[in-house]
Amino acid sequence: MKITKDNYYSQEADRETMSVSQYKLWVQCEYKALALIQGKYKRVETDAFLLGKYIHAWSEGKLEQFKKENPQLFSSRGATKGDLKADYKVADSMIKALENDSNCMKFLEGEKEVIIQGELFGIHWRGMVDVLNLEKGFFSDLKTTQGIHKKYGGLTFIEHYGYVEQMAIYRELIKQQFGKDLIPYIVAVEKNDNPLKAIIKVDDRYTAPKLEEIGYNIEKIIKVKTEEEEPCSCGLCDYCRSVNKVTSILTIDDL
Ligand SMILES: [Zn+2]
Repeated sequence: MKITKDNYYSQEADRETMSVSQYKLWVQCEYKALALIQGKYKRVETDAFLLGKYIHAWSEGKLEQFKKENPQLFSSRGATKGDLKADYKVADSMIKALENDSNCMKFLEGEKEVIIQGELFGIHWRGMVDVLNLEKGFFSDLKTTQGIHKKYGGLTFIEHYGYVEQMAIYRELIKQQFGKDLIPYIVAVEKNDNPLKAIIKVDDRYTAPKLEEIGYNIEKIIKVKTEEEEPCSCGLCDYCRSVNKVTSILTIDDL
């Protein structure tokens, strides 16, 4: 199938292609990923997700349209009726901080929301690049984060949320589609009123081992996706909790 902006987030697109977010789901829980492909599980859109979309709509130059399409951004009662809810006022502060930073703006300049596709590790992938700048030789992704220097079990937010995988795959897909090896950057902005910002280069040192790891993991994923092998249940995620009605016995070492 040809991936377009209209079908990018469809179940059919998930069935026919691999995306980085789908890959991350497979690694987290095969049971949940398979349920997603089969339409038995739907990702829930959290407030944090909507905040990210708000900032992306701004980056694309479509914020006014986005506000019109999402009335839930505005308070619907009381004295603040019609005002932006507090969460999205924060988003406006984040946007202002980016707008006033000429370096961040430079790395957000280029073609926006570009769909990329290609073959990697024997499977068809799709992706959507936030900012593609073939002329200046880079692509970038705009990320919102709790804290730029926050660590998650010793990992940076970039590693913890699988952004290294994303940049590694996107770099390969861009190579295939445009014949150019571009440098990946993450433009990050914290989710608060006075946010720290950063422009982070995601270099080979991080992406090369991740590509190897993806190549290794994908073999099993393809087998489960094509129902050649049974999926493993992680027993921990929201989907497993909702379907596993029988508790198994653990030892303290399992905790
Ligand atoms: Zn699970």
